Amino acid sequence: MQKPFTYAIVPPANNHEKPAYWFAFTNNELLLYEKGTDVVPHRLDFNEVGLGFIRQHYLGDYDGNPCYAVDLAEPVTLPSGMALKNLRAAYPRLGEDFFTLAGRAVQIIDWDHTHQFCGRCGAKTIDAEEERAKRCPACGLSNYPRLSPSIIVRINRGAEILMARAFRFPPGMYSVLAGFVEPGETLEQAVEREVWEEVRIRVKNICYFGSQPWPFPNSLMLGFTAEYAGGEIEIDQVEIEDAGWYSAANLPQLPPKLSIARRLIDDFRR
Ligand SMILES: [Zn+2]
Repeated sequence: MQKPFTYAIVPPANNHEKPAYWFAFTNNELLLYEKGTDVVPHRLDFNEVGLGFIRQHYLGDYDGNPCYAVDLAEPVTLPSGMALKNLRAAYPRLGEDFFTLAGRAVQIIDWDHTHQFCGRCGAKTIDAEEERAKRCPACGLSNYPRLSPSIIVRINRGAEILMARAFRFPPGMYSVLAGFVEPGETLEQAVEREVWEEVRIRVKNICYFGSQPWPFPNSLMLGFTAEYAGGEIEIDQVEIEDAGWYSAANLPQLPPKLSIARRLIDDFRR
């Protein structure tokens, strides 16, 4: 984040005195202004926007502005000059900070939607007051917003890196390897396993690179670099369609700038 953000779940007492940023969603699409300085509504009260909502969730303070996630009530009749966009499509308009805040908002809304009832006994849950949790008054089960840790790894072999194409990628695009961490695994084991499963090579010297929340729908991407340690590429043909070694001068079509995949690749190019 370029500007400071302070996490909280309870709005401060003087909250109603300052205009808030309202990150309003329906079906994973964000309500935004198509043009102008404000990207999302910046108002004292969301009612000023003129749209109904199901629930609001306080997210915290962004550079002196309260921030809320808003779960819009359907049907949504768009006010003039406003649009609904998925986060990837909205990224150029949002910029990095608002993309991050909107990603936080959509995950809270999705969690709120999918945890209205206890997964163990089926009773209606209630919001905890002191933390972001849903509690079951009948059996005591607590549920927290779900995060799915995933590793993503750039493998270096001399002056080349391994780039692979998953079947689900847009046409022509290649990226570094990624996959979900399994219960009971260390992150290093997840890196070794994913690389082995997808391309049948061994890696060594696994180093932490950085992380990125990835709200599609609730991943936390943990980036690593690693060095090639042996084996010949043999693609799995289930997730991966093609893979190969590429030098900085002949890289294929890359993932978009917003991703940690791209940061890993840009770091190699430098
Ligand atoms: Zn229960």
